[in-house]
Parts: sequence; structure tokens; C-alpha cells
Amino acid sequence: MTTITIDLEKDPAVTNLRNYLRIRSVQPNINYDECITYLRGQGAQLGLPVQVFEPVPKKPVLVMTWLGTEPALPSILLNSHMDVVPVFEKSWTHPPFAADLVDGVIYARGVQDMKSVAVQYIEAVRRLKEKGIRLKRTVHLSFVPDEEIGGGPGMAEFVKTDGFKGLNVGFSLDEGLASATDDYVVFNGERSIWHIEVTCRGKSGHGSLLLPDNNGEKIRYIIDKFMDLRGESKKKLEDDPSLTIGDVTSVNLTQLHGGIHDNIIPEKLSVCFDIRLALSVDHQQFEDMIKRWCAEAGSDVTYTFAQKDCYVASTPLDNTNPYWLAFKEAAEKLNISLKPRTFPGGTDSRYIRQLGVRALGFSPMARTTPMLHAHDENLHAGTYLRGIEIYEALVPALANVDSF
Ligand code: ZN
Repeated sequence: MTTITIDLEKDPAVTNLRNYLRIRSVQPNINYDECITYLRGQGAQLGLPVQVFEPVPKKPVLVMTWLGTEPALPSILLNSHMDVVPVFEKSWTHPPFAADLVDGVIYARGVQDMKSVAVQYIEAVRRLKEKGIRLKRTVHLSFVPDEEIGGGPGMAEFVKTDGFKGLNVGFSLDEGLASATDDYVVFNGERSIWHIEVTCRGKSGHGSLLLPDNNGEKIRYIIDKFMDLRGESKKKLEDDPSLTIGDVTSVNLTQLHGGIHDNIIPEKLSVCFDIRLALSVDHQQFEDMIKRWCAEAGSDVTYTFAQKDCYVASTPLDNTNPYWLAFKEAAEKLNISLKPRTFPGGTDSRYIRQLGVRALGFSPMARTTPMLHAHDENLHAGTYLRGIEIYEALVPALANVDSF
């Protein structure tokens, strides 16, 4: 065992993270009791009051509160989700819930997404409190369930409650993504998720005939249209290297259904698409286009949505947003370079932004290969510790933003 690992083995902030990682809060059907017990303990250590809300039974939301010197000002929310995605244990070289520390690297499900960030918030607040620092605005640390299944029973419900309103949130930080370069990526918006199923009905009959009203022809038309759109987005990305996936509309065919036998033309065929609408897309026009395609494909072609996110405006990154100015200034002092982006997937930030509250996604992991949801998810302990220092600067900068 190397010296660096021995030192890290003894580091209390590393130990604290590893303890949280060992809790199997893995989807689906999570029992959050162990997380809540761990977090209550953290709150007690920090000397912060803890509230546990349960907007949905068995789906607790835990909030630690560090009262500011001007508690009437809108607060700062440091949000993280407690759940992690499932593992294919056989594909891991380290047990996913052992939090092994090898050559300075911690291996565990959730070490990037996003238990490291949760404990970084806790450790940063611990250090600030130990220095006797007081901040103007109240800082809330929230720990929510079920982000990995879309946040429906978690943040989506929590934001509707009086408990959330009582937090008086003015600005929120939540997860971002690791970055393989020296830059730290900060996300100020998300694309809207649409999951659509298009069903093509037509004349059923024997597979030896050439009957009219054929649903095979109809579904080909629909698939062509969606795949042409996919091709356009791919081309946009290829033609402009400054664009990232979050800047374009992505389209993927995810399911095909239909048919009962090799020589029978079925009554219906259906196809599902996972679409992420770029922030520049007009939702009404986009749906009108789909409606038109269905009409062009032939009779009895219909669509339904399994998910249809509304448009959520991104958080402005300009002089109108004093929290952003504070964030940027703190980053400059830390000598870290920020790269603003649109998040490629969905996070709980969208529920916060939907309320008109400014929110940024930020996971301080530079020079780190993004491994969220991957086998052998890992993070260098040094990167994790550096992240605590970053929050030690960011949290006061945000919580000391003057009233505006
Ligand atoms: Zn996450």
C-alpha cells in the first residue's frame, strides 16, 4: 500500500464519503432509512437542525439548515440526490458498495453521481463553521430521493409543498458532470425530454398479398422522418465543433412493437422515440410537425406521449444574475476555468428552474473521465478533496450575495 493511500485512509472527509457510499441506496424500490440515519448524524455533527419531509410516503427529503445572519433574504440550496443507479456486479473489478480505496482512487457506485458532491457540501460547511464564519444568506442542504427515476416522487413533488416554499430558495446548486479536461463544466439549462410512441394501424391480411392501407409503409415514413431529423442534428454537431450534445435536439428510436406471425400483416405497428428538444426549439411547432408527419404517413397514424416535459428557461449567465457573477468571481479567485453548457440529460434542477428560481449544475471534477452509471465508477480522492476546497469558496460567495 502506498503512502498516499495510507494518508487518505485516515482522512476524515474521505472516510465520511466512503461511509455514505457503502449505503446501498440503489434503484429500484429503495429503503432510504439508512441514508436518513447517516444524514441525521451528519447534521448533528455540524450542529445544524434537520427536517425530514415526506411529500410521498417512503420518499423522504432531508434538509439541513445553516441559518444566515440575514435570514429574510432568499436562501441558497445545495441539493443532491441520495439514490444511485443499479450495478452489473459481475462487470465490476471492485465491489460496487465497498468503496475500495486503491492508489488514491475510490471505487463505488455513486462516487461521481452524486454522493461525492453531497459529502463535499457537508465537508465544506463543516470547515466554514469550524473557522467561525457566518454567512448572510441561509444555506440549506437538501438530500432528495429517486432522481435516477426522473425525480417524480422526489424533487418534482417536494417543490410543490409548503415545506419547500418555507425554504425561500433564491438560488440552487445541483449535480453537473465530470470533465476530462482542466475545465470545470457548469450547466445552466437542460433540454426537454419527450418520449413519444407513434402507432400505425392498417389493413391486416395474408403476407402473400399486396393489400392497400399498409402499416409497414406508414411506419417506414414515420421512421424516415425522425431519422432524417436525427441526421440533421448529427450534421450540426459535426459541422460546428463548438457545439455539444446539449445544444442540439437528439432523436433515438428506442422501441418497436407489432406483429403476431411471419405471414400475417398485423393490424398495427408502433415505434417509440426518445427525443431531447434543444432549448431553441419551439414546442408547439415541433409537435405540429409530428402531427403533420402522422397525417402524411396515411390514415390511422396516431401518437401518444409517455413523457412530455414543458419548456423550462435556462438560468441566465450574465449581469442580470448576481449569483452567477458571484460564482464566476469565486472561480476566478480559485484559478479554475468554467465552461458553461446545456446539460445533456435531465436533473432535478429543472423542477427548481420551472419555479423561476436560478439553478446551476456543477460537480467539481476536472481531469476526470465521466463514469456516471458506468461499471467501476470511480473518483480520485484528491479530486474529491479539491472539490471541498472549491465549495469552501463558492458557498460563501453565493450566500454573501447582497440583496438585489
Ligand atoms: Zn445524478
